[in-house]
Order: sequence, then structure tokens, then C-alpha cells
Amino acid sequence: MSRSDRGPWEISGGAPLEPDIGPVDDVDCGSGHCDRDAVYRVAWPNFGGDEALCEWHLCRFRHQHTEIWDQMRALDAPNPDTFAVRGQRFISLDEVPEEIAVDDDRMRRVALGDDGLALFESADVGPGDPVRFVTVDRRLDVDGSIEVARGKAGSVVAWYRDHEGVYEWDPEAKAALHGGESAR
Ligand SMILES: [Zn+2]
Repeated sequence: MSRSDRGPWEISGGAPLEPDIGPVDDVDCGSGHCDRDAVYRVAWPNFGGDEALCEWHLCRFRHQHTEIWDQMRALDAPNPDTFAVRGQRFISLDEVPEEIAVDDDRMRRVALGDDGLALFESADVGPGDPVRFVTVDRRLDVDGSIEVARGKAGSVVAWYRDHEGVYEWDPEAKAALHGGESAR
């Protein structure tokens, strides 16, 4: 049978693709580097498909796509709100303080990572002092910490960007990254 004899349903082998929305079991979260279990499948705006997300990525999705979220809530499927549990991670940069203190050191915000932890660096660095970087959760508990010579600070930020993934830069840190930092 030649291809032209087939109806479109035969070519696709199934019903037209429609987003499948609702709770899921035994599926990995479909978001980037995330290794948590997915809890709910949502309509995915970019590709016209769907994606299963973990509790925290569900929260971020709700924050980013309020219109789709409202549409999902109007459906027959179980209320997605009950599956969106944020835990101790940040959803957006707005929630991250611009400055914090860690062990009495003043630290300033650099970025919010794809993983929902925020990256900070030492705010007061003397000429010979090392620069400290920390990642913190929403309780401001330190998750990771590293100290490097001042000249290496830029490469730490670049490593973080490439390996952890940056969700949102602090505007000033971003400006420094593209301007002042390159001179060091
Ligand atoms: Zn996830």
C-alpha cells in the first residue's frame, strides 16, 4: 500500500496528540537535571505536548504559567494545587534576599540556580582575601560552600552556570559578569 492511500490516522498510528493531564506514578520529573519523581502531568506550552513534573517543578510551573494553571484547575482532573509542594527551594529570584550573612560574613546574591538553590558570594573581599561562594535554600541553610582565590571567582561562576544551570541572574551580578569581572 502506498503512503498516499493511508488516512492521517493510519500514518500517525493513533489518535491526534492531546495533552494528558493529571497525577502520574513511576515517572521521572521531565525538567532538566531534576532527578525527583514526577507527581503530575501538565500541558506544556512550548511544544504543544505535556510533561510530568515533580512537586517543586510543579510550583515553578504554576508561577511561570498561571493561565495554563487556571485552565488545568478548571478541568475534571484532580486539582493540581494539592500536588504542588514547594519544599525548601526558591521558585523565583524575587524570593531570594539580595544580601545574607553566613558565619558573620556578608554575602551578596549572584543567581538562582535551576535546582532552586541560590548562589551567593562574599560581599567584602580585601585584596589578598579568598572569595567564598555558598548555595542556600529558602531557610538560608547552606547547601554547598567553596572558597577560591579572588582571581578564580569568575571561573567558579562560569562553572556554576555550565554545570548547575542558572535559572535567573541577579541583575548586578550579571552586569559584572559581562563587564567588570573580565578585567580581573
Ligand atoms: Zn523536578
